[in-house]
Parts: sequence; C-alpha cells; structure tokens
Amino acid sequence: MSEDDERWMRRAIEVARSRGSDPSTSPLGAIVVLDGREIAAERNQTGELPDATAHAEMMAIRRACERLGEMELRGATLYSTLQPCGMCTMASIWSKVRRVVYGAGRNDVHRMYFEARHVDTLSFIEDAYRGDVVIDGGCLREECASLYYPPSADLPPAEQANL
Ligand SMILES: [Zn+2]
Repeated sequence: MSEDDERWMRRAIEVARSRGSDPSTSPLGAIVVLDGREIAAERNQTGELPDATAHAEMMAIRRACERLGEMELRGATLYSTLQPCGMCTMASIWSKVRRVVYGAGRNDVHRMYFEARHVDTLSFIEDAYRGDVVIDGGCLREECASLYYPPSADLPPAEQANL
C-alpha cells in the first residue's frame, strides 16, 4: 500500500461522507483512478435511486466507462471504503480494472453490510478466468471501518439493511 493509495482512500472516505455519515445508509465511497487521475467518484445510491445494483463501486465503474467512452478500464485502480461484494467484484472483472483496493474488510464491520451467505471475494478472483486482477485490502482500515456499524453492534432487525 503506497502513500498514493492512502490519498485516494481518503478521497473515497470523503465521497462516502458526502451525504452524511449515518451508518444505516451504508455510506460507501468508490473512486476509479487511471494514470494518476480521478476518472469517477461515486457514493452508494441504492436508497435514493432506488436501485439495488447502485453500489458505490458499480456506479463508479459506470461513470468511468461513460467518461472514457470505453467499456474496459484496463490499467485502472478501483478504490472502495469497504470490501466489494460479489456483484461489485464481478463488475471489476468484467470492466478489466487492474487493481482493487479496499479499506475495511468483511470482518471489520457488522454483517448487515454483506450477503447473508458468505461470498469470498478473494477466491472469486482466484477462480475467475482472469488471473491478473490484484486485490489489496486494509488501506486505512480503521478510518474506513468507522463509517459503519461495528461487528458487535446490537441492531434491531429493521435497521439491518441486508437481512
Ligand atoms: Zn457491491
């Protein structure tokens, strides 16, 4: 993890907080960076659109493809404040990003942020038909984890978005 990675992750945290920091709204931020330039910066928008697929990473990939006029993001890095879910991991593979860097991991936050059944992002990548996507987790782990409910939070079911 480089100083550049931490700088981009700070930017992702800023985007995650851009509409408030209520952890019940799943404030995720994602940035697509290519050749040292920010191509897209998006927040999770599932609630406001509403669109179940409008995760921050999906939105950032869509926006980056639009801006570049390309369906492939070869050489790009996708930064996300939280470990990408199975859908966003597949989107990373299809969009051909070179690298995925995330902040907090699955075990750093409450289970409400992930699928009820465990999808292991890392083995997803290993088993994928592309072996050249690099995933690096834990960039500014604690700062990113502080955006979300902690693993031990005692939440009423009504507040648990994904259950
Ligand atoms: Zn996702």
